[in-house]
Amino acid sequence: MQDWPHADQGAVAIVDGARRTVFCSNDYLGLAHHPRVIAALRDGAARYGAGSGASHLVTGHSSEHHALEEQLATFTGRERALLFSTGYMANLGVAAALVGHGDQVLEDRLNHASLLDAGLLSGARFSRYAHCDTTALQTRLAARESGNALVMTDGVFSMDGDIAPLAALAQVAQAQGAWLMVDDAHGVGVLGHWGRGTLEHCGLGATHVPILMGTLGKALGTCGAFVAGAEELIEFLIQKARTYIYTTALPAAVASATRAALRLIDDEAWRRERLFENIARFRAAAHAAGIALTASTTPIQPLVLGSAASALAASDALWERGIWVTAIRPPTVPEGTARLRITLSAVHEDAQIDVLVEALAQILRRPS
Ligand SMILES: *Cc1c(COP(=O)(O)O)cnc(C)c1O
Repeated sequence: MQDWPHADQGAVAIVDGARRTVFCSNDYLGLAHHPRVIAALRDGAARYGAGSGASHLVTGHSSEHHALEEQLATFTGRERALLFSTGYMANLGVAAALVGHGDQVLEDRLNHASLLDAGLLSGARFSRYAHCDTTALQTRLAARESGNALVMTDGVFSMDGDIAPLAALAQVAQAQGAWLMVDDAHGVGVLGHWGRGTLEHCGLGATHVPILMGTLGKALGTCGAFVAGAEELIEFLIQKARTYIYTTALPAAVASATRAALRLIDDEAWRRERLFENIARFRAAAHAAGIALTASTTPIQPLVLGSAASALAASDALWERGIWVTAIRPPTVPEGTARLRITLSAVHEDAQIDVLVEALAQILRRPS
C-alpha cells in the first residue's frame, strides 16, 4: 500500500512509511499530481457527483464527457473521438466490432496484452508477425483470400519502449486494403513536438492510420481511453462496440480532470522537454557506467536481465536502496527476457536519476 505526497508530484511514494523514488510509473509528465488536474477532478465531482450512474447510452454521458470527446478529436486531428472506460476495453471493443469469423487480425508479436486478447477474442483468424517486421506482415496480408483484415500495433511498445515503424506499416496496410489501428497508450502526451503522440512523431495522419486508440491513464494522468477516427467509424462503434455499450461511463469528474490534463499538454510543454532531458541524462549516465540499455528513445528504458530470478533480485536490491522498479517477467515478456522496466518522468530530479544509475551500477557489478 502506498501514499503519494503531492509535493513530490509522483516521483516519490511512501510505502509502509518509507520513501521510495518511483521509476516504474506511466505518469510520464507528473500530471496525476498536477494541482490543476486535481482541482478539475474535485470541481467535477462537486458538480456532477462521484460516479456517472450508468452507461453512456443511458444517463452516463454528461456534457463534460461530450466536451472531452470534442477536445480529443481536436487533439488528434480527427473528426470524432469516443470515450471508453479503460484501454483494455477499447481494444476489445474495436476488434470485436470490426472483425469476426471469416476475417483476419494481424498483430505485432510484442503488442500489449490487451491488443493480443482483443485479436484472440474477436473471432477472426488471429496471427502475430515478428516484432516490427513489415515484410512478414506484407506476406501474410498478400496471402489472404477473402474477408476483412485488421492490423493492430502498439505505437510505443509498452515493455520495450521502441517505436513501431508506422509509416511502413501504414503503406503495407493501405496497399493490401487492411485497416490499421494504433494503440498509442505510451505515445500520447509524450511524443511529437506538440505531444500528439507517435503519429505526430512519424508525420502521419488519419489517412495512414484510420483507427487511433489512446489511453488517459498514462501521460494524461487520469484513467480511461478513447478511440479517434472518422465519423462513420465512431458511429459504428457506438452501435457495435459492446465494451462501450455495456459498461458504466467514466465519472464526469474524470472527464473534467482529463480536459485539464489535455490543456496542460499545450500550456506546459516544458514537461515534455524536461522528460526528454531526463531520458538523455539517464542514458548518458548508464552508458558511462557500462550499463547495457536497449536503443529505446522513449521514457520506457528496459534493462533486460534474462531470468526471472535475476530481474527479481535486481528489483529487490533497488528497493533496499530506496528505489522502486518492478521486475517484469514472462508471460508479460518473452521467456528469457525478464527485465527491469525503468520509466522516466518529467518530475524526476537530476539527483534522483544519478542515484538510480549508481544503484544499478552497484547491483550489476555485484557477483550473483
Ligand atoms: C496500459 C495499456 C493499455 C490498457 O489501458 P488501460 O486504460 O490501463 O486499460 C492498452 N494498451 C497499451 C499499450 C497499454 O500500455
